[in-house]
Amino acid sequence: MKYKSYNLSNFRSIPQISSLDKEMLDDIVTVGSVLPFKVNNYVTENLIDWSKVPDDPIFKLTFPQKEMLIPEHFEMMNQAIQGTIDKTKIKLVADKIRMKLNPHPAGQIQLNVPTYREEKLWGLQHKYRETVLFFPSQGQTCHAYCTFCFRWPQFVGIDQLKFASNEARKLHDYLKEHTEVTDVLFTGGDPLIMKTKILETYIKPLLSDDLPNVRNIRIGTKALAYWPFRFTSDDDADDLLRLFEKIKKAEKHLAFMAHFNHPVELNNELVENSIQKILNTGAVIRTQSPVLRHINDNPNVWAEMLKKQVALGCIPYYMFIARNTGAQHYFSIPIIEAWNIFRKCYQQISGICRTIRGPSMSCLPGKVQLLGVSEIKNEKVMVFRMIQGRNPDWVARPFFAEYDPNAIWYTDLKPAFGEEKFYFTNELNSMINNEEEENDFE
Ligand SMILES: *Cc1c(COP(=O)(O)O)cnc(C)c1O
Ligand code: SF4
Repeated sequence: MKYKSYNLSNFRSIPQISSLDKEMLDDIVTVGSVLPFKVNNYVTENLIDWSKVPDDPIFKLTFPQKEMLIPEHFEMMNQAIQGTIDKTKIKLVADKIRMKLNPHPAGQIQLNVPTYREEKLWGLQHKYRETVLFFPSQGQTCHAYCTFCFRWPQFVGIDQLKFASNEARKLHDYLKEHTEVTDVLFTGGDPLIMKTKILETYIKPLLSDDLPNVRNIRIGTKALAYWPFRFTSDDDADDLLRLFEKIKKAEKHLAFMAHFNHPVELNNELVENSIQKILNTGAVIRTQSPVLRHINDNPNVWAEMLKKQVALGCIPYYMFIARNTGAQHYFSIPIIEAWNIFRKCYQQISGICRTIRGPSMSCLPGKVQLLGVSEIKNEKVMVFRMIQGRNPDWVARPFFAEYDPNAIWYTDLKPAFGEEKFYFTNELNSMINNEEEENDFE
């Protein structure tokens, strides 16, 4: 298949789009003027069941929906579009709305950007001791955009990630000095949007003898779901698989972190083939997804997805909670409800599938998992633990919050038993304050 991408300017040429009514098309334009929109011919031809639109989960995953903007914002944008042909004015209104959608979730990207010899290494994030995130500059887009994506600000250009010149070199220098780092996670966007040649310039230096601490190279990608041809018929598909083999030959572990949101994305031979090709290189595929209202907020859908993943040789890894940004009001469900979905899914899958962990929030202190609801001394509480912590010492310690069936994010939580703070609150606050003193936040 030849890649064909659609956005606001050409989506009306998608053959199946003629089955939608005019109002829906107008809504796509209105919402798509604020939130990013991009889809491709594989998604429209193979994943979306057009007879089920607008309820089809992959349609909701990739096409802007009216309710993704609150009515006030929708009206603002609609009026701007109808009342003017001046593109710059439309952009001003769009930017105004965007700034109200919490474009910098878990804030302080700067809190995670490390410093090397007094220089900020933009394009790197180092939040958890063992793992560095790396954002290669050519990998900051995707084969299609997910409507829930927490990286949306960078796709609409209000959050330009900055990159160090000579990124590969600086990543290498940093890792050489930081021997506590065992994992490098390539992320984006989708790093597999890059040509193999470019990806190789980043990966090869990590295989050199002077980085024995780097054990695991992870690639976070949605290519299996949005463009499985990346591993079969793309021009440099074979080169990519050979590159994966080189990682294995250098005795590093290639952890392919695959992003799937719905079993539909796994139900065709193209994906099965691609998974097999990746596994044949010695890589291990781990899978992750947020739980999303309108798309996969159902334990049976999750169970089906995890079983299918395991049948294809993948290892379930994380169930996330939708982040507090963008169209969160559209996708989010209370943390308790996410836990119920997790629990009811977990109960119907075998131990082999229970490598999944969650539901987990990637928030300021760390990755916070709801273990469940309990009652302690007549008080109903929610029991959490950190799977990852900004301070490694916080990890795996349980903590308790007041039972709140409406809480949708960790900022909604209050400590249980009348306590004022969680055990990590003071330390977290001082980390934030220190950073603010040291850096000029922009
Ligand atoms: C999720 C995440 C990681 C990886 O965490 P693992 O639990 O090792 O998969 C690393 N850095 C950041 C900032 C993250 O959000
Ligand atoms: S593929 Fe990943 S980075 Fe790209 S839009 Fe989807 S969630 Fe965001």
